[in-house]
Amino acid sequence: MCEDTDYYKKPVFLTPVKQGPFYALKVGPALLAVCGGLKCNNDFQCLDENGEVIEGLYVLGNIMGDITAVDYPINVAGNSHGRCITFGYLLGHELAEA
Ligand SMILES: Cc1cc2nc3c(=O)[nH]c(=O)nc-3n(C[C@H](O)[C@H](O)[C@H](O)COP(=O)(O)OP(=O)(O)OC[C@H]3O[C@@H](n4cnc5c(N)ncnc54)[C@H](O)[C@@H]3O)c2cc1C
Repeated sequence: MCEDTDYYKKPVFLTPVKQGPFYALKVGPALLAVCGGLKCNNDFQCLDENGEVIEGLYVLGNIMGDITAVDYPINVAGNSHGRCITFGYLLGHELAEA
């Protein structure tokens, strides 16, 4: 059984690295999404702290409130871009007709 004396990870999460060749890759952190953001209703209108509509202020994309507050599902292709483009298209048409 493997033992991690550097980070004390549980043995069940350890995989032995036995046979080369081995390659190294530098991995750094990146910010994918906004946790929090501006809250809105189904018409993309921003809401104030009392849940009331702020006239003339709309929100789309990453900054829409709490879309990814719990999780960022990276296994859904186009999860963020799809939302940006689709919601932008819908709101653009809505405002152009108003
Ligand atoms: C590494 C990485 C990989 C990703 N991969 C995917 C993927 O595979 N699929 C997917 O669907 N999504 C992916 N995303 C997420 C996706 O890129 C974002 O959700 C999307 O770009 C958000 O679009 P947005 O228009 O809301 O914000 P942004 O693209 O961040 O646009 C905001 C714009 O506002 C500008 N801005 C900021 N402050 C001001 C200011 N005060 N005045 C004027 N302009 C300002 C910024 O310069 C920027 O151009 C990825 C993100 C990252 C970082």
